[in-house]
Amino acid sequence: MPVNIAIDGPVGAGKSSIADTVAERLGILHLDTGAMYRTVGLAMLRLGVDPADEPAVSARVGEVAVNVRYQDGKQHTYLGEEDVTNLIRSGEVSAAASSVSRWPAVRRAMVAAQQRMASETDMLIDGRDIGTVVLKNAPVKIYLTASAEERARRRYKQNLEAGDDTAYEKVLEALNERDRQDMNRETDPLRQAEDAVLLDTTHLNYEESVEAILRIVEQVYGK
Ligand code: C5P
Repeated sequence: MPVNIAIDGPVGAGKSSIADTVAERLGILHLDTGAMYRTVGLAMLRLGVDPADEPAVSARVGEVAVNVRYQDGKQHTYLGEEDVTNLIRSGEVSAAASSVSRWPAVRRAMVAAQQRMASETDMLIDGRDIGTVVLKNAPVKIYLTASAEERARRRYKQNLEAGDDTAYEKVLEALNERDRQDMNRETDPLRQAEDAVLLDTTHLNYEESVEAILRIVEQVYGK
């Protein structure tokens, strides 16, 4: 059985970056499933399909080839043969991803692809429905969160470093809106799995959060 670690949590909890470091220290791959929904969102924008239009999105999702490849241990996400790893980080694509991820046809396709990858390889997978749907039987499940204000503050700082000076209030508003959509959608909403360990990082720094996860993994896998 491959090593499978599931990490879920709301927007900006640091899942992706913390998961990257944890996976690297464990010597396993990290699958960021948000990147896959973002790629579907980008594809719909390019096709001129409104991400909120369920019938239209469902009709076209079969045309969208989301491919994940690893280069030097790092995930690159492709739309067909185009590496869209950086393109999918814009605010517009974030909003489109939240919208398309509501539709069952999109979720079914992404979940199936994620389950296939996890059955073949040792992986740490992060997302919103990993512990509840994708890897229901994962031996390690973590629900990573922090207060909305702290998550928005971290995101605001990251944005500034990337040259984006969107006001803090706007960042907080967009984050709350995405959480609201993720937690209230009918299909596979974001929630903590009953057997997941809750890790609140509001008062933890990056390294402390990484260490906390490594301790949880160690208790189960002994590494
Ligand atoms: O994690 P990230 O913010 O990159 O995810 C983008 C969007 O994709 C989220 O807002 C969420 O709506 C959706 N998503 C999801 N299920 C996952 C991962 C992400 O619905 N497993």
